[in-house]
Amino acid sequence: MVNVDLHLHTTYSDGNLTPDKLVQLAIKNNLKVISITDHDCTDGIDEGINAASNTGLTIIPGIELNTDTDDGEIHVLGYFIDYKNKDFQKILTDCRNNRVQRAKLMVNKINSLGLDIEWDRVKELAGDGSIGRPHIAKALLERKLIKTFQEAFEKYIGRNGQAYVERLRLNAKEAIEIIQQFDGIPVLAHPGHIRNLEQILPSLIEIGLKGLEVFYANYDSSTINKLRTIAIKYELIPCGGSDYHGIKTKTEKLPGTLGPPIETVDKLKELSNKFI
Ligand code: AMP
Ligand code: ZN
Ligand code: FE
Ligand code: FE
Repeated sequence: MVNVDLHLHTTYSDGNLTPDKLVQLAIKNNLKVISITDHDCTDGIDEGINAASNTGLTIIPGIELNTDTDDGEIHVLGYFIDYKNKDFQKILTDCRNNRVQRAKLMVNKINSLGLDIEWDRVKELAGDGSIGRPHIAKALLERKLIKTFQEAFEKYIGRNGQAYVERLRLNAKEAIEIIQQFDGIPVLAHPGHIRNLEQILPSLIEIGLKGLEVFYANYDSSTINKLRTIAIKYELIPCGGSDYHGIKTKTEKLPGTLGPPIETVDKLKELSNKFI
């Protein structure tokens, strides 16, 4: 186990734990620094910070923006983002509204395939935060229309699934620009699946990419080594974490399973000029 985990989700997107419960789990797992990185939503950050006050656990404000490109999905994390900025919140609200439209279309497609899930139930599962495909997967599981969470993505809502709908086409360049515009540090999330990674990196770095997720809990040691070499080559800060959602309770890597060294936090802090 490690003491830094910079990729965690809460009920404010598609995680199962409230920020308060996540903080308790992080403390139990001996973490010292974590980042809350919900999809298109920063509403869990203050709750996390309050829950962590006087515990010795530090919370770095974060965000995860998902983007679609012709080559697949690219997710960009933003650390130390100025999450209180009103213009930033307006962008996030637009993204979340688009998520609602997209999820509705996917539920319609699923219904027309003869699978009976209800839109109201999917909305209920999402609660107040960002609605996403995991909420649809949960609704399918609940109705026993699939056997595993993974099956939802393989058959229906994964990129090649029968009910997949593309998101608003925010691309990686735009995500990096948005994060920078609001003083965040852009980091490429779980890059292990990006086939042409070394081809796209130079242009992303030119726009402002500063880090790469190297220590990603779901990667094997050869992927981690490969990504570590790439991070060194392109002078990117090696980041990482568990990407914990608390959904797949049996197989999921817990907070603190893997993450970057504490020097990574120092480098991020230095770049952000913000002291926590
Ligand atoms: P969305 O934000 O609605 O596009 O959903 C993205 C989230 O769905 C990711 O953060 C993952 O938690 C989950 N996800 C995406 N693809 C898969 C997959 N193939 N298998 C399992 N979970 C996935
Ligand atoms: Zn997620
Ligand atoms: Fe992601
Ligand atoms: Fe994530």
